[in-house]
Amino acid sequence: MLVKIVTLFLVFMIVMGAIQRALNPNRKIGKRDQTRLKRPRKCPECGRFLIGRSTCSCGR
Ligand SMILES: [Zn+2]
Repeated sequence: MLVKIVTLFLVFMIVMGAIQRALNPNRKIGKRDQTRLKRPRKCPECGRFLIGRSTCSCGR
C-alpha cells in the first residue's frame, strides 16, 4: 500500500515537471521580464521617470 502511494507521488511529480517544462517555453517568461526591465518606469505620484532606481526623490 505504501509503495503504491510513493509510486503515485513520483508519477505525479514527473507529470507536473513535464507540464511546467511544456508551459514555460510557450509563455516566454524570460523575454517578458527583459521587456519589462527595458521599459522606463514612471513614478506613480509625480510622473517622473525612475532610471536606475526604484524610489523617487519625491519620497515614493
Ligand atoms: Zn515621484
